[in-house]
Amino acid sequence: MINQKCKKCRRVGEKLFLKGERCFTPKCAMERKPYPPGKLLSERKHRSSVTEYGTQMREKQKVRNTYRVSEKQFGNYVKEASGKSGINPAEYLFESLESRLDNAVFRSGITHSRSLARQIVTHGHITVNGRRTDIPSRRLKVGDVLAIREGSKTSKLFEGLGEKLKTITTVPTWLKLDASKGSVVFQGKPKPAQGEHTFNLTSVVEFYSR
Ligand code: SF4
Repeated sequence: MINQKCKKCRRVGEKLFLKGERCFTPKCAMERKPYPPGKLLSERKHRSSVTEYGTQMREKQKVRNTYRVSEKQFGNYVKEASGKSGINPAEYLFESLESRLDNAVFRSGITHSRSLARQIVTHGHITVNGRRTDIPSRRLKVGDVLAIREGSKTSKLFEGLGEKLKTITTVPTWLKLDASKGSVVFQGKPKPAQGEHTFNLTSVVEFYSR
């Protein structure tokens, strides 16, 4: 399954950072094999010309794979965003994805990947407002506080985490990390300008409106 994540990057031709620290090393498959999986040597230099539909679909796959969301759930996020009046659907889609509990666990630095964040939530190591939850897709609201469950703090999973969190400087402004407590306040609405990637979410919304 490990290589499957790298194949997702190779298919879309971009690093999606799905494997934590490895993504920043020369071991990254996009450094060693920056061409789609299964391409013959003679085909590698030529990415076939892509239609607008293909470009939009690739963008959708990039976003969906980055946030580790199923096709169905992703489609529901887009549908919800497109059905709201008076708001920018692309911005709303970004807000929905970034407000997920598993995403907030990852973005606050508690884990090095979204996959691990999801696993930690599913296994009940995270609380929201003091109550244990095992729903990675839970949508956080402004004022919610997520934390590592008291009984899980001694787990090997979180060894050395306190020290690691003190060095983190990349937490987006809508999250307020308290490194000493291992807790995070969801303090405002996620803003696309502060995303980790420059996804074209408008193109993604257009893909679904075809
Ligand atoms: Fe694999 Fe590199 Fe993609 Fe990370 S960025 S998932 S190491 S190909």
